[in-house]
Amino acid sequence: EMRADFIANASHELRTPLAALSGFIETLQGSARDDTAARLRFLPIMQAQATRMARLIDDLLSLSRIELNAHLRPDKQVDLVAIMRQVADSLQTLARDRGVEISVKAAADRLLVLGDRDELMRVFENLIENALKYAASGKRIDIALSIGEGSKSAREASVRVRDYGPGIAPEHLPRLTERFYRVDVTESRAQGGTGLGLALVKHILNRHGGRLTIESTAGQGATFTAHLPVAGPAENTNLPASTSG
Ligand code: ADP
Repeated sequence: EMRADFIANASHELRTPLAALSGFIETLQGSARDDTAARLRFLPIMQAQATRMARLIDDLLSLSRIELNAHLRPDKQVDLVAIMRQVADSLQTLARDRGVEISVKAAADRLLVLGDRDELMRVFENLIENALKYAASGKRIDIALSIGEGSKSAREASVRVRDYGPGIAPEHLPRLTERFYRVDVTESRAQGGTGLGLALVKHILNRHGGRLTIESTAGQGATFTAHLPVAGPAENTNLPASTSG
């Protein structure tokens, strides 16, 4: 049943931009054939719709790839601090455009986990991009990386992304990582969302033996935390951070 639902949802999500594109093509071939103004107005919209379809297909393919590898734990040692700094740097321009300041604080110089670098980049990108999309009004995003005791008393790394935007009402929290679930579909579409971002985040973290937790109070921002098992106590220097900010 879930599978049928998913296919129905995915088809619907793809059909919406496709219908818009077909409509514009028809208009440009028909009534607006010689209308330069209409053409200049329609082409960017058509491009945006095509981009949206491409993004959706990319996300669907990523999800299915991650699912195929779900039972394989990544075995390369990667440094979460370096990955996060790279992701945060790559989003600085977008953050500046939206008037948001991103701060990254790490409790150690390095935080090593067994992971897939590209997938973990995707996790951090999605969380920061969401904060930029839905919580820019809060003007800042605080990112904190730390190491501590996890739920099963094993050591775990936590990567916290906190924003000061509108937050999320409690009834939505348990459903946010469902595929295509959005608090506000219109807003998500306007921001170029696919509704698959947090589903991807959840699946990637599961594959790493980790998990995602979400805390929020409406009106007071939201905190998304990725928890990951650490590679092993010996490898983690746990030195006080020499750089921050
Ligand atoms: P989307 O592609 O719609 O952004 P996601 O799976 O990434 O899909 O997120 C699902 C929904 O969760 C979003 O549509 C939005 O309603 C909500 N959301 C995610 N992050 C935040 C945030 N930082 N603040 C408020 N709402 C958020």
